[in-house]
Amino acid sequence: MKPAAFAYVRPGTVEEVLAELGREGAKILAGGQSLVPVLAMRLGRPSTLVDLNAVPELKELSRDGGHVRVAAMVRQRQVQYDPVSEAVPLLRLALPWVGHREIRSRGTVCGSLAHADPSAELPAIATCLDATMTLRSSRGSRDVAACEFFAGAMTTVMEPDELLTAVRFPVAAAGEGFGFGEVARRHGDFALAGVAARVKTDADHVAASITCFGVSDRPAKADVSAQLQVALEQTGRAPSEPDLRRALGEYAEEVAAQVVDTVGDAHASQAYRRQLTVGLLSREISRAYLKSVNSRHEVSSA
Ligand SMILES: Cc1cc2nc3c(=O)[nH]c(=O)nc-3n(C[C@H](O)[C@H](O)[C@H](O)COP(=O)(O)OP(=O)(O)OC[C@H]3O[C@@H](n4cnc5c(N)ncnc54)[C@H](O)[C@@H]3O)c2cc1C
Repeated sequence: MKPAAFAYVRPGTVEEVLAELGREGAKILAGGQSLVPVLAMRLGRPSTLVDLNAVPELKELSRDGGHVRVAAMVRQRQVQYDPVSEAVPLLRLALPWVGHREIRSRGTVCGSLAHADPSAELPAIATCLDATMTLRSSRGSRDVAACEFFAGAMTTVMEPDELLTAVRFPVAAAGEGFGFGEVARRHGDFALAGVAARVKTDADHVAASITCFGVSDRPAKADVSAQLQVALEQTGRAPSEPDLRRALGEYAEEVAAQVVDTVGDAHASQAYRRQLTVGLLSREISRAYLKSVNSRHEVSSA
């Protein structure tokens, strides 16, 4: 099928983009990796495509104090390899799982967030890390926390005239460790189920959270500090990964029951997604914990 007819504009500044977005039926074109198939299947019929590719200020990837700032036209593959993003290890763990190299060469981080596919990796990473989205329109600018940005499947709180100008990911703190895993039918497919884990330890405390994707209509986040603490009481504070995974198994089932709320579809039943989530949760929380402990040792021996 071919897309329905549309007008095409290629502004050179953010102000010009915002003026175009004020028109009825205008839609942003970033990497086109999700939008173009939508148009080809006639699932969307915008009157005008507003192409962001010629706006220099939307191509910046930078370190901004305690954050890495990814502007609207920064490609996924640039973030995967640029040294600036090493400060956000969870992004680097997740990006190789986003589609294929060719998709990541065109697709943008902000485009994936704006598209809000519930099985996509980057919305889950943004939620897990408490990233901040900056939205601009000709009416002004506002910051939205990732946990408030996703409003349902393929739905965000953005208004039609708003541009996601950038997302800011917090730089990993000392004592933080991360885990990321997913199961897809083939590499490069959207996940049937996936988990991002973030653990922070110091000499006395353990804090842990997970964000699951592919199992709900939006990224599903939960605090699992209590579950990890109880598991560590069984294994001691220096467990092997298999021992910690075993100890976490029972608690992972409780967490999975809480976060997996998708009904089954042609790809997988609800029960299968829950089973995948249990395995991913215990593995990724364990890995994140062990990395967190190791990162403290590296800092103290440096
Ligand atoms: C074969 C294939 C496999 C894929 N596999 C995966 C996968 O495994 N995991 C995954 O996460 N993704 C996958 N994708 C999607 C890919 O990651 C896309 O690049 C991404 O979802 C959209 O980014 P984009 O820059 O291409 O956005 P576009 O396709 O240009 O836009 C997507 C939507 O977001 C809006 N938009 C884009 N940028 C902005 C902005 N700055 N402000 C406001 N609205 C904006 C557009 O108007 C449109 O509605 C796959 C795509 C393909 C074709």
